[in-house]
Amino acid sequence: MALIVKKFGGSSVANAERVENVARIVTDEYKKGNGVVVVVSAQGDTTDDLIAKAKEINPNASKREMDMLLSAGEQISISLLAMAIEKMGYPVVSLLGWQAGFHTDSNYTVARIKKVESERLKAELARRNIVVVAGFQGINKYDDVTTLGRGGSDTSAVAIAASLKADRCQIYTDVDGVYTADPRKVKGAIKMEEITYEEMLELATLGAQVLNNRSVEMAKKYNVELEVLSSLENKPGTIVKETVKMEKMLIRGVAADKNVSRISVVGLKDHPGTAFKLFNALGNAKINIDIILQSVGRDGTKDISFTVSADQCKEALAAVEKMQDSLKYSKIVHDETVAKVSIVGTGMETHPGVAAKMFEALYDQNINIQMISTSEIKISVLIDAEDADRATNAVHAAFIG
Ligand code: ASP
Ligand code: MG
Repeated sequence: MALIVKKFGGSSVANAERVENVARIVTDEYKKGNGVVVVVSAQGDTTDDLIAKAKEINPNASKREMDMLLSAGEQISISLLAMAIEKMGYPVVSLLGWQAGFHTDSNYTVARIKKVESERLKAELARRNIVVVAGFQGINKYDDVTTLGRGGSDTSAVAIAASLKADRCQIYTDVDGVYTADPRKVKGAIKMEEITYEEMLELATLGAQVLNNRSVEMAKKYNVELEVLSSLENKPGTIVKETVKMEKMLIRGVAADKNVSRISVVGLKDHPGTAFKLFNALGNAKINIDIILQSVGRDGTKDISFTVSADQCKEALAAVEKMQDSLKYSKIVHDETVAKVSIVGTGMETHPGVAAKMFEALYDQNINIQMISTSEIKISVLIDAEDADRATNAVHAAFIG
């Protein structure tokens, strides 16, 4: 008997018909004699709707109460899916995050999983129950409900697969695999049979919407092989694993992220410690910094620009404003209408000229580059948000065709 973990995203359980479709996929697996754990997200746009409801009442609601609210979405979908499976005559039990043993830290709304105590899961599987688990949630040391950050159900699935040493972890979604670019926006995007954890991690972090980046990090750490596949079409998806067979492709993917803001701190003192103080303050405020650009000092001052995710822009600005006394900068400027376009591929490590080719594609479209950042397997540029789709298409055409 194999043990299979299957995760279904919000669109895969959006309505009664979709829930019944998922129940069929799950019971087909169970019928083969396999143990099945199913992780589900909240139906459709439920999580967004819950956030909107909270904003109506209190835009500054505490994160603890936000988690209490947001965890409700997954509670609805696990019970509905369990009911659909019951109706088909199979033994099933639904479990909330805490019942499934998910222990997290206390960073409400972005909690990290500390461990999965899988006794209950194992006991239910031993009884030959199909186990339906609420993704995206856990419990902290105060017995409060926590959530794992947007898209966190992928991570829940990987954590269960790791903890139970499952034979397979399948992430079902509304696309049939991982593409070289978002197929809804880029013509000629190609589905990949396989991709490495490293490449997938870069793509996920850079805004490819298929898999949550923490889930890929965890899959890599515990060597959980993932399959990304469609819940609506019965065909093989994309496998994410440690190494893949050699392919000619220099670039594996182009990703665009519009959830980005740029902040520039102008007129900082050009002496040691300035960058430390600035980023230390941002770090203490738990702000994730992405691209950093420092100007060359002139007349004793310099400017530092950096990008953050758009949802952290307000908090980042507040943190920098608090530093005015110690940093004595002349002003802060920010721009929320920017986007980051990136190319990813382990092939670029050994091929010169990749950056020039990307920049040429942007130049041909008359798109201006505001910031550039690179790693061994990725090049990112910051551009105007309105140019993002055009840029992605042009870059994709240049490398992949
Ligand atoms: N329902 C949560 C969200 O929309 C978790 C998830 O979908 O994975 O972010
Ligand atoms: Mg969702």
